Amino acid sequence: MSDVIPAPVQARVPVRGGGTFPVRRIYCVGRNFADHAREMGATAPASKAERGTPTFFSKPADAIVTGDADVRYPRSTQDLHHEVELVVALGRDARAGVLPEEVASSLVFGYGVGLDLTRRDLQAAAKKAGLPWDTAKGFDQSAPISELVPAAEVDGLDARTLSLEVNGALRQQAPLTDMIWNVPEILHELSKLYALKAGDLVFMGTPSGVAALQTGDRYLARLEGVVELQGGIVA
Ligand code: MN
Repeated sequence: MSDVIPAPVQARVPVRGGGTFPVRRIYCVGRNFADHAREMGATAPASKAERGTPTFFSKPADAIVTGDADVRYPRSTQDLHHEVELVVALGRDARAGVLPEEVASSLVFGYGVGLDLTRRDLQAAAKKAGLPWDTAKGFDQSAPISELVPAAEVDGLDARTLSLEVNGALRQQAPLTDMIWNVPEILHELSKLYALKAGDLVFMGTPSGVAALQTGDRYLARLEGVVELQGGIVA
C-alpha cells in the first residue's frame, strides 16, 4: 500500500563528528531544579525521600530547531519564556518493563543543550484551570537544540554547569548536580509510563531565572565544556 499523502519529514538532530540523530519523541521534565520550582510558586521537595514522582510532559518531534537557526516569535502569547535544559538522547530501545537505574545510562547515545520554550501566559492559565499544558509547551519551534555530543566524548557530566545568556547578559546558571532527579533516575521513572526507544530525547528541566524573550533577542545556551546553542528570536 502506498502513502495517500506525502510522508512527513523526519526530524533530525546533527551529531558532532558526523551523521544525524532521527527524533522519535521528546519527553520533558518539569520542576527538576528546586529553585525553579519555587520561582514558579510550587513547593520544592526538602529531600530525595520527599520528592514524590517527577512531572512529565511532551513536545512533538518536529518542534525541534537545529543548526543555530532563528526562532519565530510564536502566535497567541505575550510572554514567551526561555528554559535552558540538558538534553539526553537515547540510542537504544529499553527492554520491556521498568528500566533499572543501574542500566539506564547504557541507553544514552549522547547529550546536548536545548531550550524548552514556553508560552508562560498560556501555561499559567492552564495551571489555574487545571487543564493540560500542551499549547503552552508543545508548539512549533518550541525546542531549539544544539548538536548532540556522543556520551563517550563527555567526561564528568554531573559536575557540569548549564547556563543561558540573552543579549550577552547571564539569565540562568546552575550545576547539573542541582537536579532533583538525575538522568538514570528520570529514565527509570519515564520507563514506568512509556516504552523508551532509540530516537527519544529527554529535556531534563531548567534552573531558576526563566524570563521573557522578545523579538530581536539573541540567546547563547551552554553546557559548560561540552556544547553550545545560539540563535535569535525573529518576527
Ligand atoms: Mn522545562
